Amino acid sequence: MSRIAYVAGRYLPHGQASVHIEDRGYQFADGVYEVVAVSAGKRVDDDRHFERLERSLGELEIPMPMSRHALAIVMDEVLRRNRVRDGIIYLQVTRGRAPRDHAWSGDSVPVLTVTARRQPPPNEIMASRGVRVITLKDRRWKRNDIKSVNLLANVMGKSRARAAGAYEAWLIDDDDLVTEGTSTTAWIVSADGRLVTRPLDEAILGGVTRAALVDIAQQAGITLEERPFSRAEALAAREAFLTSTTAHVLAIISIDGQKIGDGQPGPVTTDLLDRYRRHVAGNKIS
Ligand code: PLP
Repeated sequence: MSRIAYVAGRYLPHGQASVHIEDRGYQFADGVYEVVAVSAGKRVDDDRHFERLERSLGELEIPMPMSRHALAIVMDEVLRRNRVRDGIIYLQVTRGRAPRDHAWSGDSVPVLTVTARRQPPPNEIMASRGVRVITLKDRRWKRNDIKSVNLLANVMGKSRARAAGAYEAWLIDDDDLVTEGTSTTAWIVSADGRLVTRPLDEAILGGVTRAALVDIAQQAGITLEERPFSRAEALAAREAFLTSTTAHVLAIISIDGQKIGDGQPGPVTTDLLDRYRRHVAGNKIS
């Protein structure tokens, strides 16, 4: 079965799905994206994804290509045509096609592309064993709250992590504080047992999984401190973990080769993963 993509109004086989060479997304990374998980045929946390998409587009002054309702219909149609019940939807909106000029003119029509693929939920063995991360200097631009397709520093960071045998790289700012992973949100359970994640600011992407976990923690009566934490504090933490739409809640067992806690997924991480899985399955959080 050939995969089908939605490209600016048409459903096309991937082999024929293309955008113009002067699309500003291609030339300037002038666009944004979303990755939405699909579980048992249902889009997970789609309101939060729509909100973030609208926010990212708004910050870049790119109009929404269509209403939320219409976008949801396109997403479901791409899922249906690709027979995806468990996997991810990738959607991207660029400012569209225009003769190459750094300044935008306002005449271009936003280009929406949507793809979907089957992807099983995160690997059980990895979830039960935990993963390693390394740290790297955060070399990205200063508006990481916008989910822009400009991901070069993230791509380089993730590749360096993989080359070092790690799953992810945590990025460190000029004050030695952890911002986030290259494609994940960073969390610790501090040495004194507090759940900590960086507050939302322009240095990090407001993760949809982060937002879900903030609610889950609150409903579970787990106190959360939204404050910056340093690399040194992370190294001394009882537990560390990362979150994202595709990774869910993933325990970190070492940072830069130093063991975190006893080098195994800790109880808070395991409990939050369990609660998050129930959230994805659409069950009531308790
Ligand atoms: N931080 C960055 C830089 C990301 O790229 C992502 C996801 O792609 C996240 C955090 C996690 O966001 P979410 O939970 O919405 O997947």
